[in-house]
Amino acid sequence: MTTQTEEMLTFSLVIGGAETAAAAGRTYESIDPYTGRPWAVVPDGDASDVDRAVAAAREALDGPWGRLSATERGRLLYRLADVIESEADRLADFEVRDGGKLLREMSGQMRGLPDYYRYFAGMADKLEGSVVPTGKSNYLVYTTHEPVGVVGAITPWNSPLLLLTWKLAAGLAAGCTFVIKPSDYTPVSTLAFGRLFESAGFPPGVVNVVTGWGPETGAALAAHPGIDKVAFTGSTGTGIKVGQAAVANMTRFTLELGGKSAQVVFPDADLEAAANGIVAGIFAATGQTCLAGSRLLVHESVAEELVGKVVDRASTIVLGDPRDPATEMGPVSNGPQYEKVLSHFASAREQGATIAYGAEPVPELGGYFVRPTVLTDVTPKMRAVTEEIFGPVLVVSTFRDEDEAVAAANGTEFGLAGSVWTKDVHRAHRVAGRLRAGTVWVNAYRAVAPSVPFGGMGASGMGRENGLEAVKDFTETKAVWVELSGETRDPFTLG
Ligand code: NAD
Repeated sequence: MTTQTEEMLTFSLVIGGAETAAAAGRTYESIDPYTGRPWAVVPDGDASDVDRAVAAAREALDGPWGRLSATERGRLLYRLADVIESEADRLADFEVRDGGKLLREMSGQMRGLPDYYRYFAGMADKLEGSVVPTGKSNYLVYTTHEPVGVVGAITPWNSPLLLLTWKLAAGLAAGCTFVIKPSDYTPVSTLAFGRLFESAGFPPGVVNVVTGWGPETGAALAAHPGIDKVAFTGSTGTGIKVGQAAVANMTRFTLELGGKSAQVVFPDADLEAAANGIVAGIFAATGQTCLAGSRLLVHESVAEELVGKVVDRASTIVLGDPRDPATEMGPVSNGPQYEKVLSHFASAREQGATIAYGAEPVPELGGYFVRPTVLTDVTPKMRAVTEEIFGPVLVVSTFRDEDEAVAAANGTEFGLAGSVWTKDVHRAHRVAGRLRAGTVWVNAYRAVAPSVPFGGMGASGMGRENGLEAVKDFTETKAVWVELSGETRDPFTLG
């Protein structure tokens, strides 16, 4: 049940279509990073709650959900999209209060969610198998795509419902059921979201939500022998643990992990547009996006001019209340992340980077505010260059030619995204092809769509979300061999 006292909202787990408390009766408070005050009480679920949720998801899979036709599944997804549309403002408000991101960004994200469900709704009854020719005339062979089964979805705090949707829309279209463990820091919108499935007409248990702490509740889900796939988004360190837990049960998994993406600016680029794209890439969402363009690689001939433009814009970024339409950068989303960003400011100074702008907290605003930060004179081994900071910190290096630019861009364990800024069409495609990243934008940054695959190479993950490929990741392919002749075969040879 969701109840409102004078200040605090209280939420419940969603298991088997019903709202329920955590079995152990534990709760915790979710903190608004702008005010620094708790604003909601959520259940602190444990392994027994995960057990209950997995059992409910299995029951739905083997029962009413599993019996629906693909067309009926698609119809429910269309209905869900309509329900989300009517709830978008409430969900955006929850995400802002839990995560401190700008209301205008989260409203846009929530209004965009239905597009994902509609895109995959249309795909539900188009998951065609094929008739496969073989060299054996006495066999008809065809393939089918079956749902992989019960999926454990583990999501991070930076865009909780968008990143959940990247799993859910494709997985539901494929016929899977879900147990979701949202981030400890931003549990509320997912708990509220879990209630919408009933309104959209889904059978109970198709989507279950268990909140709690990562190392306990998340780990219990990743290691649960009753799930068939883990779909994880989060840091590379946690992703490795999740993958290891999954492998121990031969559970399938996809990992959407961190990044250290490069924006590569050539001397012929439109520097105004590039500066704007660089600001969008690293300062939007306070830099707390996996695809943040956190490394600027710029040709030495235009470096001073471009960095000047970026610093000028950074210095006018309006920090403040995420609900105020004039605000351009809200607080860092939670205490540990704030401390991590501050520690990077300190080590950048210690390691000799030049602070072109920022690198300090803004205590007068309260909350976890930091200045947008631009670091120059960095070297490849500095922490700020090698580690994902997940904050508004841009490191700038220069290059002399294309090979040097490509080598520097690829000189990271990550491979999530990147961009190329140039007016030379040959170079644009050539460099896009040479960057080792799952997404490359040309003369743009930070655009996504339901139809476009997203995911990382190297330490940025395994698998792709969105687009045609994503649904296949939620299915198992089965080959069916039908003997046509009716004759008896030699049992001691391979047919
Ligand atoms: P995180 O790895 O700390 O947590 C992610 C989720 O894992 C949370 O729900 C957490 O509770 C859970 N978790 C923690 N320990 C666990 C364990 N031992 N077993 C199972 N689950 C566990 O990440 P975060 O700080 O919430 O999110 C930020 C990270 O996510 C960044 O690295 C960012 O780049 C990445 N990210 C990636 C993408 C992408 O699509 N590639 C998108 C957004 C964020």
